[in-house]
Amino acid sequence: MEQDFCPNPNLKVWLDGRLVPVAEANINVFSHGLLYGDGVFEGIRIYHGRIFECTAHMKRLANSLKAIRMEVPWSMGRLVEAIEQTRKANGVENGYVRLVATRGVGTLGIHPFRTTSPSVFIIVATIQMYDEEMYEKGMKIVTAATVRNHPNAMAPRIKSLNYLNNIMAKLEAIDAGCLEAVMLNPEGFVAECTGDNLFIVRLGKLQTPAPHCGILEGITRRLILKLAQRRGIPTEETTLTRHDLYFADEAFISGTGAEVCPVCEIDKRPVGDGKPGPITRQLIEDFRAHAKSGEELLAGE
Ligand code: PMP
Repeated sequence: MEQDFCPNPNLKVWLDGRLVPVAEANINVFSHGLLYGDGVFEGIRIYHGRIFECTAHMKRLANSLKAIRMEVPWSMGRLVEAIEQTRKANGVENGYVRLVATRGVGTLGIHPFRTTSPSVFIIVATIQMYDEEMYEKGMKIVTAATVRNHPNAMAPRIKSLNYLNNIMAKLEAIDAGCLEAVMLNPEGFVAECTGDNLFIVRLGKLQTPAPHCGILEGITRRLILKLAQRRGIPTEETTLTRHDLYFADEAFISGTGAEVCPVCEIDKRPVGDGKPGPITRQLIEDFRAHAKSGEELLAGE
């Protein structure tokens, strides 16, 4: 059966300073965001009408923009107001924000400065990444043959509009009957999943690949490390091999869309006893409580 992916026609999108109905939120075919993936984005959750870890997300956006030498004609404060305006216009209390900044409309050819001024749009909608069952039982994942981008080619730390690297690995996941795949870095160490960071627990210690392993430094990842530290769980940002994953007692993924989801099987090897472990379950509970609290744990960093 063909699926209907049309957005709600009543959706209002913020486009370069104006709230417009989704049917009028159109992108020019000469947009360098479209032609070359020249742009960056942020994905942010709204919980109970509040922008989740707003400061950390806006800082990461500012860093992504700086890395690609793009200046948008809006301050970060103004963009936060715009997110709030879009949220209110769509009556979203719990949902997802997609803020996209592109280099704008330009000539054919990749010259990033032969363009109009950068363009920004904001979508606020609802999201459901995975079925509830996966959060209860865990998800199965595989290691992809597609290697995560070399940091000197296209730094994974930039949340760029170039997701083909991840999509190639996602195709492998889908072919294997999974929804996520582990990507290794060019040295063969574990980097992250296609749209999520990866954690394991071994002998009571929470481990995750360090930023130098070539990952997007997820906001959810940073939060999980903080929540674990608050619980007195030892944490380590380190270098992990695929075999470390096979010998893990617990594993889970983290991301804005996925939140925290247990992993029950990696490359057909059950993780621990094949059920979400106690540290994973504790951190899921802590994450949900934090989302409810409205507190910003990462704002001071
Ligand atoms: N890695 C990749 C490649 C991602 O696309 C994402 C975001 N979906 C993450 C990690 C998780 O980052 P965050 O927790 O900030 O959403």
